[in-house]
Amino acid sequence: MANELATTNSASVINWTDPTPEKSERKPIPYLKKEDGDNIMRVVTPAVKWRAHSMRKDPTLPEEEDFKKQNLKDVHCSGVYTWINKVLTYQPGTCPCCDLELIERGKPKTGERYAFGVLSTKQNQTSYKINQCSWSEFDSIKKFSLNPDYGDPSTYELNLMRSKNKGKTVTTIMPRPKRPMNASEQAIVDSDADQAILDKMAAPRNAWQVFNQMTYVRKDLKELFEQYGLTIPANPRGEDATPAPAPVAQVAAPKVTPVAAAAKPAAKAAAKPTVSSKTQVAVVEDDGEDFPPYDA
Ligand SMILES: [Zn+2]
Repeated sequence: MANELATTNSASVINWTDPTPEKSERKPIPYLKKEDGDNIMRVVTPAVKWRAHSMRKDPTLPEEEDFKKQNLKDVHCSGVYTWINKVLTYQPGTCPCCDLELIERGKPKTGERYAFGVLSTKQNQTSYKINQCSWSEFDSIKKFSLNPDYGDPSTYELNLMRSKNKGKTVTTIMPRPKRPMNASEQAIVDSDADQAILDKMAAPRNAWQVFNQMTYVRKDLKELFEQYGLTIPANPRGEDATPAPAPVAQVAAPKVTPVAAAAKPAAKAAAKPTVSSKTQVAVVEDDGEDFPPYDA
């Protein structure tokens, strides 16, 4: 008993006699950086999805230049949408980014984000990465997984071949012949794949958290919200925090599109991926493949 303070084995307890431990660091999320040309990867975890905004850093830029000028940064959407007269309608006050876009862009613009763990092989080096992608890329991979010729996407590699066509990024997804993971690949998955990181990426954010993410994108945010007469969300953990969503019915019914259509920015309407059973190749024409990481 005398030396109790120094003898515990609990993982979270630091003995006073131990050397000073390293200050805990927030591990950066190991995002897969897709490059022009071949990108070899194997899907090794289930996917997660969430709804996000591509928030515009500089709202004065023409929207066509958003991708070229890297004007977009992902923030989560906390918006509450309800069906009113068969129109999926946003409840103002539930998402600060929806509120802002309602004013600056005429309507909230959100899309689905997907993420899953992959084994990425670059220059003969294989490592665990998290691939964040749009609906169209996700859907192509899903189609392969549902195709009996391929099935479970952990049993073969995919080559995401990226090229530029008239300023647009075109990704052609081609499965490689079936090959089970070898022992060293399996060992990487066992040690590095972490579903908790994916779950955290996809976890719902409240309005206050979304506003915080937004402050990383736009410096003048508080002033802007005051100027527009928008409510800055309160910290729900704070004492005065009972953020009451604005009433639904009185909404100046923004022409918010149904979920399926809202999932894709308008520019992508013609970019539905197709998986041809003859060629076994999926072609995705999509500007939105690279979503800049958000600040959680
Ligand atoms: Zn939103």
